[in-house]
Amino acid sequence: MTEKLLGSIEAGGTKFVVAVADFDFNVKEITKFPTTTPEETLANVINFFKQFEVASIGIGSFGPIDVKVESKTYGHVLNTPKADWSGFDFLGTLKVAFDIPMYFTTDVNSSAYGEYTKGSARGANSVVYFTLGTGVGGGALQDGQFISGIAHAEMGHATVIAHPEDSYVGGCPFHSNHCFEGLAAGPTLEGRTGIKGEKLPRDHKVFDFISYYAGQIAFNTFVNMAPEKIVFGGSVLQESDMPTVREYFKQFNNDYVATPDLEELIVRPSIENNGSATIGNFGLALKVLKE
Ligand code: ZN
Repeated sequence: MTEKLLGSIEAGGTKFVVAVADFDFNVKEITKFPTTTPEETLANVINFFKQFEVASIGIGSFGPIDVKVESKTYGHVLNTPKADWSGFDFLGTLKVAFDIPMYFTTDVNSSAYGEYTKGSARGANSVVYFTLGTGVGGGALQDGQFISGIAHAEMGHATVIAHPEDSYVGGCPFHSNHCFEGLAAGPTLEGRTGIKGEKLPRDHKVFDFISYYAGQIAFNTFVNMAPEKIVFGGSVLQESDMPTVREYFKQFNNDYVATPDLEELIVRPSIENNGSATIGNFGLALKVLKE
């Protein structure tokens, strides 16, 4: 009999990463393709999984998406600038092809779950994970459950105060220069300097600004939820920025609340090759299989 495998779909706005692994999360096969129309992209996803005996699938998708199980549009993509995808029944399309358990959540929740199960938040009961890339998102976990109510969290759009020397107008069409994403997403680097983020020297002032926003959001997160771990993933900030992030956290806290060692509290992901979401999806596939 063929070995049963766990499936992962990391659905990004520009590319999809699909993978299968054994029950110890050892990857057996992984592949990626560009995000085009929903029909074409999902056909690629389905063809990939048809090669294997898959027990369950974890899906981490770009959003906004409907993650409320009791909702009529559960599993659908909601209004998104990617016009073709608005209203698309993502989960329903997969369910027609594979009648197996599936877990459907946001890409950042998948990354949070990956770091919680196998990464830098392993062993913690509570974790908040932020990703700073093309966009900014955040997900929170408590005792293995995602924290959400009416909808999934939108932590990227939390209000922040601008750095006194940062005159950038902000990149968010909804919140101009007072939202985390609008001031700290990857495109804001070029927005401020006219130079692509990856070509900027790491000692450039813009990384100090981004660290200021990350430190501020980490402080807000700590006073809101007091999680054991706050993880900053994505390519905008690097390990070398973390001391500055922790320094700004300290300034915002101003010795008010007692914290654990900030080197333990505020960390980068530890799963290699940008694989937090894939590992998280395997974890969620296993979770939904056991439920
Ligand atoms: Zn915003």
